[in-house]
Amino acid sequence: MADGLESESRKLLGRLRDTMAEEAAGQERLDKITHLTADSMQTEVCSVYLFRDAETLELCATQGLNQEAVHQTRMKLGEGLVGRVARYGDVVNTADAPSERGFRYMPETGEEIYSSFLGVPIQRLGEKLGVLVVQSKDKREFTADDVYALEVVAMVLAEMAELGAFVGEGAALKALHTQAVLIRGGVGQEGTAMGHVWLHEPRVVVTNPVADDPEKESLRLREAVDHLRVSVDEMLAGASADAEQMQVLEAYRMFANSKGWMRRMEEDIARGLSAEAAVEKEQSQARARMSQVTDGYLRERLHDLDDLSNRLLRILTGQGRETGSEMPSDPVLIARNIGPAELLEYGRSLKGVVLEEGSVGSHAAIVARALAIPLIIHADRITNEALNGDQILVDGDQGIVHLRPDEQVVSAFRDKMAMQAKAQERYASIREADCITADGQHIHLHMNAGLMADLPSLDNSGAEGVGLFRTELQFLIRNQMPKRTELAALYKRVLDAAHGKRVVFRTLDIGSDKVLPYMKPQEEPNPALGWRAIRVALDRPGVMRMQLQALLRAAEGRPLTIMFPFIAQYSEYKMARNEVDKVLARETRLGHKVPERLEIGAMLETPSLAYAPQQFFDEVQFLSIGGNDLKQFFFAADRENERVRRRYDTLNVSFLTFLEGVVRRCEDSGTHLSFCGEDAGRPVEALCLAAMGIRNLSMRPASIGPVKSLLMRYNLNEIRQVIHEAGASGEQSVRNAVMTYLRENG
Ligand code: PEP
Ligand code: MG
Repeated sequence: MADGLESESRKLLGRLRDTMAEEAAGQERLDKITHLTADSMQTEVCSVYLFRDAETLELCATQGLNQEAVHQTRMKLGEGLVGRVARYGDVVNTADAPSERGFRYMPETGEEIYSSFLGVPIQRLGEKLGVLVVQSKDKREFTADDVYALEVVAMVLAEMAELGAFVGEGAALKALHTQAVLIRGGVGQEGTAMGHVWLHEPRVVVTNPVADDPEKESLRLREAVDHLRVSVDEMLAGASADAEQMQVLEAYRMFANSKGWMRRMEEDIARGLSAEAAVEKEQSQARARMSQVTDGYLRERLHDLDDLSNRLLRILTGQGRETGSEMPSDPVLIARNIGPAELLEYGRSLKGVVLEEGSVGSHAAIVARALAIPLIIHADRITNEALNGDQILVDGDQGIVHLRPDEQVVSAFRDKMAMQAKAQERYASIREADCITADGQHIHLHMNAGLMADLPSLDNSGAEGVGLFRTELQFLIRNQMPKRTELAALYKRVLDAAHGKRVVFRTLDIGSDKVLPYMKPQEEPNPALGWRAIRVALDRPGVMRMQLQALLRAAEGRPLTIMFPFIAQYSEYKMARNEVDKVLARETRLGHKVPERLEIGAMLETPSLAYAPQQFFDEVQFLSIGGNDLKQFFFAADRENERVRRRYDTLNVSFLTFLEGVVRRCEDSGTHLSFCGEDAGRPVEALCLAAMGIRNLSMRPASIGPVKSLLMRYNLNEIRQVIHEAGASGEQSVRNAVMTYLRENG
């Protein structure tokens, strides 16, 4: 790049900074910026268009177009060339704007006489703020240097907007991050919460986007990158990082050594940006690309670049994670994503969690469920929008987040929470009561658990026991395989806390969505149908034996219940059972106390097991239907795939008929049967499951109250009749019929 151009660019940025420092109203500042930019770029026109709302852009300042059009001319996202820049975040550069695809002429602006057009997005860290345009009469094709120069100005404009430069009297722009925002995401864990934002990764604030001394800035950047490179190398050399971290670190190293990345930042600095502004410009562009890339691998790499930029910004600005701000007393955690161990560390102090990414089956979701904290996933833009301390309402039932809500929304939300609190009181009043239906049938309600954090719920919820203890959580939240003694101590604490109530320990259920960070990941075309759960255990029995031994020792002679996940055929059960017998014999030989009673069961999660030989039903001591997996295989609909997940109703006649068949087989052979998928915790579903003859339901603790309350009011025989009649009438799902019955008989 020519030195002359660089110094011209620096001069312009210097002037922009001066306008920032001057006492002036927002509009005045914007006017000045358009004037300075047109002058520096030698164009007749420079205009700034800013978003009024998510869909509308407004001409907010101009040099060269009719002044009367300012704050009058508006366009929709995607409309005209300006709208195109805004929608796609791409540069539009043309010598002949009127013949360009999508050109739209705004007569009130008087722009018809201008032929060439260059528009660049004004954006900051993935947040679109507007469009910066220069135009001139001559048919001029802007050079790459011109484009670059305008992008740098747009970057400074975005920073100035973030710092509040354009608000105040005659405001051209409302202050950022002050308005009410509603974000729709996905439900990770139900429940509602009201609190204040606590950012897991606080934003780094760049207060000095423009710098005078490029050499000094360049040196600062290089030093910071060196610092980063050394720390990444050190982390890589240390053996403590797990496989996933290693992958991220490798990616960091790749970027830290990337010549293109460094060169672009050096060029930005040469044009007058400070080192941190140069890093942030790259980061903004990476985020803009991230929103358009669908390839998973590329997205991950862009995320890595984003993380790396954050680290670099922290080094350059000296702003650590500790911002000095105090965690609010009612924190709602906001993060792009969070690991299970980190979430556990925050623990129950959190009122809610909102993630920009995440998934229903993610480890964080499992932990949030265990902690009974409402969780919203896929909350688009939340990490950009939210600031520490903002008021936030989390509606985990609908998957909606209200950020900085207005008073009306707050008051409606308060009413909703008050109603829920009332319901909780009602549930508390029946906590100690048995769940006996109106026609006198006893339905046993148990809870699902997986962490020590779950155990207090055993008393609080009124659960009769733990119907499913997901032992894999202890494996998932660690960076290395837990030791037998550690596990034995933990299982012992679980049994101690249960005070004699039955706890069904499910052996390690990994694979599919549950990948242990310290185990080599398997490349499988269909992980949900792949090497998982009991299949892994039987092929690599070492871990299962260790776990069985830990369980036997933890029991210290007390009764013990063990369940094997994902048994698809009789032989798998026999082999697993055989492992128990071997471990038991060994423990006896070693002189250890063995449980006074040992119950061994299996999960029915594939339709195949329902048709297993009679010997299986005679032999297995109990069966538990894993409805989450069973449903996904029954309907061939991935439980993790938002597109198909909700397509098939649990109250579908085929599914209920299938379950009824399982109940019958178990009744015939006297096999104890329970149901422990998520549906057991949904009151209407639970009622229908009970009506189908399932007498034991295991669910998340918070569901026990609502399920018990509904079941106690209804007659299961009548519900069963409603279900059968609806099925016979050709309905696909019995939901409508059941709901109508409940309404009419409630
Ligand atoms: C199930 O599949 O229903 C189940 C309870 O197991 P998980 O959700 O842990 O796979
Ligand atoms: Mg399962």
